[in-house]
Amino acid sequence: MHPTGKTPNEESPLNGNKALSLDEVKTELHKRHHPSLTSLDIEAHAKTVHRIRTLKEKHDVVMLGHNYMEPLVFGLSTKEEQGDSLGLSMYAANTEASYLIFNGVPFMAETAKILSPDKTVLVADKTAGCSLADNFGAEDVKKLKDLYPGAPVMIYVNSYADAKAESDICCTSANAAHIAKTMPGDTIIFVPDIFFAQNLEEELKGEKNVVYPGKDNTARGAVCEVHERFTLSDLVAIRESFEIPKGHERRKLYAHWECRPDVLKESDFYGSTSQIMKDIAARVENDQLERAFVASECELTSNLSQEFPQVQFWTACSVRCSHMAKVRLDKIANILEAIDSGDDLTEYEVTLDADVIDKARLPIERMLEASV
Ligand code: SF4
Repeated sequence: MHPTGKTPNEESPLNGNKALSLDEVKTELHKRHHPSLTSLDIEAHAKTVHRIRTLKEKHDVVMLGHNYMEPLVFGLSTKEEQGDSLGLSMYAANTEASYLIFNGVPFMAETAKILSPDKTVLVADKTAGCSLADNFGAEDVKKLKDLYPGAPVMIYVNSYADAKAESDICCTSANAAHIAKTMPGDTIIFVPDIFFAQNLEEELKGEKNVVYPGKDNTARGAVCEVHERFTLSDLVAIRESFEIPKGHERRKLYAHWECRPDVLKESDFYGSTSQIMKDIAARVENDQLERAFVASECELTSNLSQEFPQVQFWTACSVRCSHMAKVRLDKIANILEAIDSGDDLTEYEVTLDADVIDKARLPIERMLEASV
């Protein structure tokens, strides 16, 4: 049981692999008591959830669920199959499963493919993009390398494989500051996220000179179109509306690394998704959190509010990643039906050239070595 006596979703049979009848699926969905999951939603979707769970088990499929997936999709994955893109890809590489369905956007699935080249990696919608990955490619990395010869390139995991293949080392939002410090020399090129780079520049002041696209050069960079939407005045308004004053002991405003620098400064805690989740869990464990707002993708808050029902979460429902939202139950069911009937999986399968896999694997492996 949870310290508060409430049952978090990790104990729900829906998050396990045990076979459930349609009625049991409905009962479990009703138990979630989630505000955005009405009886109407449950009646409309329970049959699809039941079918997905049945076929997932029948074909021994690993179904990876990114933290930004809507609750019904997120809940298809076991606790071990839920997390951020790199953690999920590493988990998948250590499983025996031959089919991986990555409920996230294609750049995430590419990382899974790089780490598990022999497995069949499938996504619900190959057209789902990402404003960071889509707007910065291998040619942009080469341009920066020409502008700053000798400076190592650290690339955020939110990028496509061909851009990673041109970079020296990869990083996640959880380890970027640490990885940067392990690199030789006093300057590092960080791509592609401009806001994250500016935040990192501040964090590493006096230790490392951070060069990034858009700074003193003509190379283009990118920002996350979701986190970009939070402004300083939004945060000030959120503090007032939801009564989360700065420095309050039990009410906290969280911001993601990909937010604007002034938004980070205004927050009570900033970090990666996993760092934010850890901080919330630790505060809940010590009964130190009664109210929170997380300046990030709104379905993260949906999933947090299921995990920590004792915390009053406020959310900005309009701040939804349109790319992540393309991953829907019906599309996931279609993949499994195709596997079940032996149909061609080209529509869903993420493929990469062998030489790109080899080259992109290196910066990821360097990051893993530097993380320990
Ligand atoms: S939330 Fe931002 S970084 Fe994540 S997939 Fe959407 S646009 Fe890309």
